[in-house]
Amino acid sequence: MKILGKKFGYLLSCMVLLSSVGFGQLPQAPPSPGPDARYKADILVMVAHPDDESVIASFLAREATDGHKRIAVTFGTCGNAGGNTVGYEQAASLCAVREIEVRKALASLGIMNVWFLDGVDTASQSPLISLETWNHGRALDRAVRYVRLTEPEVIITWLPDYADGENHGDHQASSVIANEAFDLAGNPLVFPEQVTAPYNYKLIGNLTEGLRPWQPKKIYFFTNAHNHSWLKGQGPVYPSTTVSPSKHVPYYELGATELSYHQTQMDAGPEGREAVYKSAVNHFKRPVQFILAKSLVGGSRTGDIFEGITPGPIPYHATPGYQPGSHEGVSVELGGTYLFYHRFWKAHGLEHLASLYPPEAGVGPGMEVSVPIIIRNDTDSAQKVSLTVEAPSGWKEESGSAVYPVAAHNTYPIRAILVAPDSKRPEWQEIHFTAAAGGKTVSSVTLRVSDVPSGPRATLRK
Ligand SMILES: [Zn+2]
Repeated sequence: MKILGKKFGYLLSCMVLLSSVGFGQLPQAPPSPGPDARYKADILVMVAHPDDESVIASFLAREATDGHKRIAVTFGTCGNAGGNTVGYEQAASLCAVREIEVRKALASLGIMNVWFLDGVDTASQSPLISLETWNHGRALDRAVRYVRLTEPEVIITWLPDYADGENHGDHQASSVIANEAFDLAGNPLVFPEQVTAPYNYKLIGNLTEGLRPWQPKKIYFFTNAHNHSWLKGQGPVYPSTTVSPSKHVPYYELGATELSYHQTQMDAGPEGREAVYKSAVNHFKRPVQFILAKSLVGGSRTGDIFEGITPGPIPYHATPGYQPGSHEGVSVELGGTYLFYHRFWKAHGLEHLASLYPPEAGVGPGMEVSVPIIIRNDTDSAQKVSLTVEAPSGWKEESGSAVYPVAAHNTYPIRAILVAPDSKRPEWQEIHFTAAAGGKTVSSVTLRVSDVPSGPRATLRK
């Protein structure tokens, strides 16, 4: 008892000491500023060019006006290429003009937080070419920064796939970067300088950014593919003909008005103005259809974009990452963009995109298609591989069919170039690529081609 009493007395004296010397005399620290609420976004739209946002403008009008949602937008480029329907301004000057056009356009919907990744307009059908000219790492650094700054609940971007009609390499590149940013912004080891607290934020010269890691909750895609049959049931659909309770006009009118600000753009501003001033709005009455890419908070595939979302952060979600496939013997596969996407979808948890539609290309009459093919030799000895290209009647093969020497455990990338007949063809045809080694057929792949010239520069590389 005596010993216990001594110990008790000692504890009591320590507590008295702490209360009189410790807590009571510590100064009160000021509150820590949270994320800048002026930039918080419910929806972050990540697209390639000024006017891309107009494809979903009636939906944005609905969410911004009557949904009271905070919306921010990033553009991969400022639209420095292309024709100018107003005047001579081109290149860097056109960029300056189009930045203002799109800021005014989005401001008509009350959307003011707009940023650019500083890529350059790149006319091709391959996201890999655009990622090269955009400086992929720099553009991704910016994209991750804007995700962390805006802390979006939902990201909306283009479909990351090559589809007949949806083939602009810049569109696809903006989606690749948006998907990467979705998966990386919550990881504090990615661009750690962005998420390190500044030395003293009230002083000048701080060189760490003071943002916080942020894991967005859902990501959706949209597309301007010619063939829409596979879109049904892939995500929510928003009618454009609904009348806005606050603006008393249909959402498509707000969308047409938004488009009308893009005055320099041949297929945008004039079309929007025509719609606004001559009531030629049928084109704008189309509903806005999304594809649910990924949800980390549940909700149904076709339910509202905000279904399952509750306020506040969610934990970082690690994606599967790259997993090398297993190959045996001699085989052939589509290369280039096609191969990239098959690896990309798996790494980012988007495998369901592989079953949306088979590999395809749009090739108008008399146009050329360049098909990337990879011949693989996963045996222990060098192989002579015969590749045969089979196309429907009327097609002309310029290159592709040949015997290729492929070293052991190596690949041989080739380009098969075919020219479509000048005459009208069936809506879809198939081109087959078959590899044979040692006198036996070992592997084949098929590309389906439509009779529709696929967007600008249709003959460019894929
Ligand atoms: Zn575009």
